Amino acid sequence: NSMIETQNLSISYWSKNKRIEALHDVSLSINAGEFVTLIGPSGCGKSTLLNVIAGLISPGTEVQGTFNTSGIKQIGYLFQKQTLLPWRTVLDNVTAPLEIRGVSRTEGRRKALALLEKYGLSGFEHSFPRELSGGMQQRVLLIRTLIYEPDVVLLDEPLSSLDAQTRALLQDEFLRLWRDTGCTFLLVTHDLDEAIALSQRVFLLSSRPGTIVKEFEINLPKDRS
Ligand code: ADP
Ligand code: ADP
Repeated sequence: NSMIETQNLSISYWSKNKRIEALHDVSLSINAGEFVTLIGPSGCGKSTLLNVIAGLISPGTEVQGTFNTSGIKQIGYLFQKQTLLPWRTVLDNVTAPLEIRGVSRTEGRRKALALLEKYGLSGFEHSFPRELSGGMQQRVLLIRTLIYEPDVVLLDEPLSSLDAQTRALLQDEFLRLWRDTGCTFLLVTHDLDEAIALSQRVFLLSSRPGTIVKEFEINLPKDRS
């Protein structure tokens, strides 16, 4: 039932004729429906791994070993430091991914309004991103990532720019989303508390080149019922 699998995966970039190994000998397997966290110091290749999973490897990048993501049908990726389109309203931000996919405007708006209501953003549909708090903006980004119903969601440090209180609030939101959607969640963070609060399994990576030094399970009651 493995959805994402890597076998002895090493990834290197070439920059000014110098080889930079970002990931080294990473073997992991993530099952459908799991909530997994990648944790490790800055520069240890966490984003690189997400990019590989999302199929975003740029030319010239050296790949050794193998990876298999053929179980993924639709991927949702919330990039690090991603922001909303400032010139668009909340509603028009949320519908943007559907427009690209050719979903009708009426259908897109219907879906977006339902999600905005469900996640406590009623009344802000026609606001602009700058009028929202950081936590609300992050929630809108999350809704935008989920609106086209991905079966795998990649989250690259989605909470790192928020204050502690908002972070705690959104953590609960993430768990709720994970429970509601049945998606596989893969979260990147360098916050151990966050990893423990959210995921079922944690991969700990060493600093560059990133390699898995430890894998452990979190035994807290947050399984889907
Ligand atoms: P993390 O997400 O854990 O901070 P990254 O995957 O962003 O780590 O980066 C891993 C290493 O690879 C870092 O040393 C980074 O500088 C380097 N790196 C990332 N992307 C590129 C690139 N496109 N070209 C050259 N080096 C890169
Ligand atoms: P549409 O509303 O037709 O989908 P966009 O939302 O892409 O078009 O753009 C709306 C307006 O914002 C356009 O006038 C465009 O020139 C402008 N715009 C596009 N990109 C940016 C940007 N990065 N920053 C600010 N304004 C932008």
